[in-house]
Amino acid sequence: SSVRIPELHRNDELEELGLSFNRMLDRMQKYIEQQKQFVSDVSHELRTPVAVIEGHLSMLKRWGKDDPQILEESIDASISEAERMKHLIQEMLDLTRAEQISVHYPNAITEPMEVLTRVVGDMAMVHPDFEIHLEVSDLDPETKIQIYQGHLEQLLIILIDNGIKYSTDRKEITVSAGQAGSECQIVVQDYGEGISDEDKKKIFNRFYRVDKARTREKGGNGLGLSIAQKLVESYHGKISVESVLGQGSQFRITFPVLSESDVKRLKARQAA
Ligand code: ADP
Repeated sequence: SSVRIPELHRNDELEELGLSFNRMLDRMQKYIEQQKQFVSDVSHELRTPVAVIEGHLSMLKRWGKDDPQILEESIDASISEAERMKHLIQEMLDLTRAEQISVHYPNAITEPMEVLTRVVGDMAMVHPDFEIHLEVSDLDPETKIQIYQGHLEQLLIILIDNGIKYSTDRKEITVSAGQAGSECQIVVQDYGEGISDEDKKKIFNRFYRVDKARTREKGGNGLGLSIAQKLVESYHGKISVESVLGQGSQFRITFPVLSESDVKRLKARQAA
């Protein structure tokens, strides 16, 4: 008996198979490249705080026993670098998780109005020197979007925190929310230093900071916006920025509003 090779009558079928196989390989290749880049970026970012701590430890070893001022300063500096590292590691974990979110919370439903009111209130309390207000136009308190509540909170905190960090003399943040058609729109506006067109393209990249040294002073590590972008996209939303140097920036996030039947469908899935 002879082995029969299945006959492929249609050439385009074979071609299609080949093409989709190539696309898959390309995606895998790209993914591997991204992972390599991530590991290299992370190592680079962690090297700075480790080097700073190392420097302080050797100062302590040499002069710390005799000089109480060096003792005090080096210990404080080391503690604050260790805290920076802890924060960086937490944000890297957040970023990795943000890439897998929809897997964890695919059916979460949130009413943005409630979250906005709470987060803006909390941020205003934590930053009494800032005027942080919420302007709502046309957003029904019952309006629902598909996102885990904790993630919407995290998003708002990242954007408001940035607005505060990059403000100049006008210490004011306006958060506005509204509904346009079937989209819920949230805008965080500051009146600070603004972002150039060149930098606008890069700020969502991991570890990108417009001014590395100055941002480091403010405790930034360039991960906030990449976490925000990953979060928004994993819930089928969009994030964008408009900004004028010296006048301020406006970060806009939009999410599809859930229809009643969407809500029913998600609730049924939650129950299952
Ligand atoms: P960081 O922790 O450094 O703030 P982000 O990813 O949140 O990291 O932001 C990346 C960079 O984009 C910041 O370092 C800053 O240069 C710029 N940026 C972000 N938000 C603003 C803003 N509201 N105004 C001006 N610049 C901003």
